[in-house]
Amino acid sequence: MATITCYGAAQEVTGSCHLLRTAGTSVLLDCGLHQGSRARRHLESEAFDFNPASIDAVILSHAHLDHSGRLPALVHEGFDGPIYCTLATAQLLPIMLFDAYSLYQNDLKRINRKNQRQGKALVSEGYSIDDIQTVLKLCRPKAYHQEFSITPTFQTTLLDAGHILGSAITRITLKERDRQKTLVYSGDLGKQGTLLMNDPALINEADIVMMEGTYGDRNHRDLTDTLSQFKHILASAYERNGNALLPAFAVGRTQELLLYLGKLQQSQELDDWTIFLDSPMAIEVTHVYDQWLTTLDCEGVQSLSDGDATLLKNFISSLHLTIEPEHSMAINKIKNHAIIIAGSGMCTGGRITHHIKHRIWDRRNTIIFVGYQAQGTPGRAIVNGVQNIKLFGEELQVNASVETLGGFSAHAGQQELIDWLSHFKPSPRVVLVHGEADALDALSNKIWQELQLQAEVPARGQVVAF
Ligand code: ZN
Repeated sequence: MATITCYGAAQEVTGSCHLLRTAGTSVLLDCGLHQGSRARRHLESEAFDFNPASIDAVILSHAHLDHSGRLPALVHEGFDGPIYCTLATAQLLPIMLFDAYSLYQNDLKRINRKNQRQGKALVSEGYSIDDIQTVLKLCRPKAYHQEFSITPTFQTTLLDAGHILGSAITRITLKERDRQKTLVYSGDLGKQGTLLMNDPALINEADIVMMEGTYGDRNHRDLTDTLSQFKHILASAYERNGNALLPAFAVGRTQELLLYLGKLQQSQELDDWTIFLDSPMAIEVTHVYDQWLTTLDCEGVQSLSDGDATLLKNFISSLHLTIEPEHSMAINKIKNHAIIIAGSGMCTGGRITHHIKHRIWDRRNTIIFVGYQAQGTPGRAIVNGVQNIKLFGEELQVNASVETLGGFSAHAGQQELIDWLSHFKPSPRVVLVHGEADALDALSNKIWQELQLQAEVPARGQVVAF
């Protein structure tokens, strides 16, 4: 018998961490950070709910931190086995982990300054740069469709999940004496029909499917509608003589935005904006995307690429890459007609928070959200329509227009999740993770209506035996 225990992303969207145990083998599917409210951040200083030294291997679905961010802590606590992931994920991982480390250091310093003032014990570092280096050395990159063995009875294949560069659906076949069982873990599933990413791979057989449900309660607008909405929002922001701020995740969202802006510019539907990609990390990540561009959705990319044009070169004629902090600060002097793409995607930190501070009080400006905003984040508060927002200790009036473009999501919507699931024949057992409780409830109801399947929605720490 095998078991899965969800130690994160159980009725919540972040902190993916699922422990698969079979007779004699323990494999972790993802090892991610909880993101969002401060309360969650404190959770990270807590110990793992299992012994990291007892884990034989990790399978990493993709490089996003809510799936990868606790790998250095896992190593710090004694894990020294292989970490399997795709080739592109292995390239993106160091960028993600080193960036997260510097944010972690800043948080730790701030907490310890406070603790010192209050006479409390100082919090020690949960992991170091050396641990990140060890994580990178433990990575065993695999190509999509390349089957590999973790043990002779534990076969694994990674398939394209179409979510971000390198993202994978994990298919695991467990052999037990005279029978075998197949587990499919969706990781984060992408949308169908995007311009940049391939559609998620379809799989026909599994005994048990552990599927994400971030948008289990809603469908996204289709791409044509979304692009048209994006065009109109930008046109109205331009007409009001304002600027457009786009909080964007460095991996995935940013690259799709560059592609869509390029597409609007190519069809001469974009006003005379100056476009800033104000994120050293997103720039670095986009360089990696550019290396893999021909393996991505060739149709979408080729229609834009003239010869050897890439996301960073020639797709957009007025694209400025700002790496140095002083160049980022200089953007504040621009009065109007700047599109500013910066992280973090949920406005929990990073350069976007400075741009929001400088621009959110001015009703000529527009903030355009293009990705999921988790509970407890400033991004979620702004989307929910707060009148004031506190940033850098200052109460700021929210006068800027606030727009949300769900159609740019990197996650499948409700119907796409159901369609993906419907390809499994005969019907598998279904376990839903990576979604807030309401979203997973709605998805579970819809799965029952359409596929007559009773999906399970485990709580954190609950054991699913199969
Ligand atoms: Zn993701």
